[in-house]
Amino acid sequence: TDFASLGLAEPLLRALEAEGYSTPTPIQAQAIPLVLQGRDLLGIAQTGTGKTAAFALPLLHHLADRKAPAPRGGFRALILSPTRELASQIHDNIRSYGRFLGLTSTVVFGGVGAKPQIRDLARGVDILVATPGRLLDHVQHGAARMQGVEVLVLDEADQMLDRGFWPAIRKLTGLMSKNRQTLFFSATMPAEIAKIANEMLKDPARVSV
Ligand code: AMP
Repeated sequence: TDFASLGLAEPLLRALEAEGYSTPTPIQAQAIPLVLQGRDLLGIAQTGTGKTAAFALPLLHHLADRKAPAPRGGFRALILSPTRELASQIHDNIRSYGRFLGLTSTVVFGGVGAKPQIRDLARGVDILVATPGRLLDHVQHGAARMQGVEVLVLDEADQMLDRGFWPAIRKLTGLMSKNRQTLFFSATMPAEIAKIANEMLKDPARVSV
């Protein structure tokens, strides 16, 4: 398999070529066609397997394919991540893979000033990468709205549970449209994570590497 046969748009294929990616990893080969079909996804994969591109590429394809204005004060796609390091890394990948698509994105996390984040959010972006605690702060202060989210990604769900983020995530997902597509990734699947995934996903496709 190559990326073209997975159904990704040409500007994404060009970006992948520039990145030097020639062959999809196993999680990418499995997940990308399912996500492009609009399915919810439960992915069991560790860091280093290429899981970021497995969700980022079909998410970018969806947003570019169904062009719509970014909702004011909101975002069309939300990627939740447990740490600021991971959030920054995901955002860097989104920018690289999406470089020929003309979509907007930003990243918000705790431990830094809120003002520049509030200014970026006010404009609205296509894609937001965030840690849950800081995003919930913004929502509670009226600086971000969850209503326009079409695609939600939860990355490293087990880490988010360990860090006590579930109450914040529940509050955030409670404000989102039920019509969204949800992609849920975890390195491990203990009973507590399986239960949360079951609540959050609709008839999910399962992939595991
Ligand atoms: P991840 O598991 O998402 O943290 O990705 C691990 C590393 O693999 C990152 O440095 C990616 O840039 C790289 N990578 C992801 N997919 C591919 C691919 N299909 N071909 C080559 N490198 C890749």
